[in-house]
Amino acid sequence: MTVGFIGLGNMGGPMALNLVKAGYRVQGFDTVKAAQEAAQAGGVVLAATAAQAVQGADAVITMLPSGPIMLTVWQQVIPAIKDGALIMDCSTVDIDSCRKAHDLAAARGLAALDAPVSGGVGGAVAATLTFMAGGSQAAFDRATPLLSAMGKSLTHCGDAGAGQAAKICNNMILGISMIAVGEAFALADKLGLSRQALFDVASKSSGQCWSLTTYCPVPGPVPTSPANNGYKPGFAAALMLKDLRLSQDAANGAGAQTPLGAAATALYAAMDQAGEGGRDFSAMFERLAEGKA
Ligand code: NAD
Repeated sequence: MTVGFIGLGNMGGPMALNLVKAGYRVQGFDTVKAAQEAAQAGGVVLAATAAQAVQGADAVITMLPSGPIMLTVWQQVIPAIKDGALIMDCSTVDIDSCRKAHDLAAARGLAALDAPVSGGVGGAVAATLTFMAGGSQAAFDRATPLLSAMGKSLTHCGDAGAGQAAKICNNMILGISMIAVGEAFALADKLGLSRQALFDVASKSSGQCWSLTTYCPVPGPVPTSPANNGYKPGFAAALMLKDLRLSQDAANGAGAQTPLGAAATALYAAMDQAGEGGRDFSAMFERLAEGKA
């Protein structure tokens, strides 16, 4: 089976290589030379254009920076895709672009899926990503072997756009909860409560959450968290800001009240403006502790 893979960056590169390892012929395209070379070294067959990458492919996957870029690429490749093929986007994009992409595919009679991921670059490399998919059951069933070669947890969330909706809602929880945990540690410092004591209590109490127990924003309690590594990402604050902005666009469009989502967006925007967008998003703790938030 042949897969056309467009967008061979930090996430798409290792995902494409996992498809190669699973025995698929992968025809890849990216606009950046370094991404092309890394993919080629791992067994991806390089294409000169996006349209060439999808030629003869049974399935096409895009993993791109934003909704507008994804839509442009889908417009380019859809006429070149063979009849009956499956097309899916694994990027994190706005709901509007996502729905437009589904419409483009439907107009050509192609099965389509939005299938964004959680799990970061580590998950992409280790093929342990979580996929949340939107589209028909038939499209999801067809995509399952491909998704299984790149991830370990697959959820069919509903019709077109449901995968992106799940991704946006999940990451809004994450952005808010990381700030909540950071605030609690900053307050504990001022109250003379040790970080380890707060961790020991909250990790076994009602304050327990992933931002505390897996990704603890202070050095010490969770040795694998970015706080122990100079807040090297991980998940960069600029990417968290991107996802929070998508949540606010979605909330405005749908008439949903998300006051904490709005506050989290403003705090990450300030962090980005201060030149800290490249730090891990858990470095928000330092900004709170230093009174810079
Ligand atoms: P990235 O910037 O490393 O990769 C994107 C790639 O797309 C780049 O290599 C770029 O050259 C390529 N590209 C851009 N325009 C193109 C075009 N017109 N044609 C072909 N290639 C093009 O980003 P990433 O970290 O791989 O993220 C990709 C997507 O996954 C984003 O939507 C991001 O929000 C999402 N995501 C990222 C993470 C993460 O931890 N990095 C986690 C979950 C989801």
